[in-house]
Amino acid sequence: MHTDTQMPSASGGRIMLVGIGPGSTEHMTLRAREAIAEADTIIGYVTYIRLVADLIEGKEVIRKSMTEELDRAVEALARAREGRKVALISSGDAGVYGMAGPTYEVLFQAGWTPDSGIEVEIVPGASALNSCAALIGAPLTHDFCAISLSDLLTPWPVIARRLDAAAAADFVVALYNPKSGRRTRQIVEAQRLFLRHRHPDTPVAIVKSAYRRREHIVLSTLAQMTEADIGMLSTVLIGNSSTFVREGLMVTPRGYANKYDLDEGGSAREGERAGRSLSTGLNGWLAGLQEDLAAGIALETLAARHRLPADYLRETLAEPLDLLVASEAEEGGE
Ligand code: SAH
Repeated sequence: MHTDTQMPSASGGRIMLVGIGPGSTEHMTLRAREAIAEADTIIGYVTYIRLVADLIEGKEVIRKSMTEELDRAVEALARAREGRKVALISSGDAGVYGMAGPTYEVLFQAGWTPDSGIEVEIVPGASALNSCAALIGAPLTHDFCAISLSDLLTPWPVIARRLDAAAAADFVVALYNPKSGRRTRQIVEAQRLFLRHRHPDTPVAIVKSAYRRREHIVLSTLAQMTEADIGMLSTVLIGNSSTFVREGLMVTPRGYANKYDLDEGGSAREGERAGRSLSTGLNGWLAGLQEDLAAGIALETLAARHRLPADYLRETLAEPLDLLVASEAEEGGE
């Protein structure tokens, strides 16, 4: 969002959605600290207010309980309308299962627009998945997703379908809100769905209170994860089919071994080139499909082999092959 065009109007009211990271001062961004310092009013869940206690002396503080999210947003808007600068504090990132969404919903409901005189700023913070991953190694180095097991606002079939799809697609998954005093079965259902697609030995990390006083980390497996102590302050990281554990660290390979011979001084494997798509990347794969079709293999057989819909194969094979090669300098950031 651009600030140049929407400087505070007459009212000067401001809502800052501040992600404070996992909960230790060192892991809070400079901007998060500044935003809290600039604010006249601080609104947040009691625990998070406590985490920034040293920064909020002399300010108006509105403590809300966990279930009062909409109230918090309504309260923030009311204060901002009076011209106050309000910091709404979220743990991790305010946009990840946090206050950012509900706040915009309340604002839009009230007829707010970006140039209506109340400025909104979202201050990004390290989300639980970043913090928890950092403590356990490098589990998120390949494709991952986050799924919340909270069914307070989301129907279970929706959550179950996402778990099933993520498990089938071999994503590394971070489970937020995995278990609470009242919600104890959701994590067992998640495990059941994952076991349908993944090996029981798949590494799982359960990280509780990352970067907080009661930090506790357990390395487990898909088969045994539910025996661990899991609660509302835990994030559960489930590895993909390549994730391994070594020296107590959980690592998901980035894929270098697909291209380079890591034992042989890191030279590229036959048929592969640094900075270029894999031979099984999109273009190479399409060329291979065309050869297979020309050799008389049925499209449906190929679709089943690659576990992709036949319709998709048909549509993409109908496009001419892109034989243009990317420029040498294009891809450095693998
Ligand atoms: N906005 C937050 C998430 C809020 S949902 C973020 O971006 O991190 C609350 C869930 O976040 C918890 O149930 C837990 O799964 C996770 N979580 C938040 N802080 C955590 C921490 N310090 N350690 C482990 N998990 C945490």
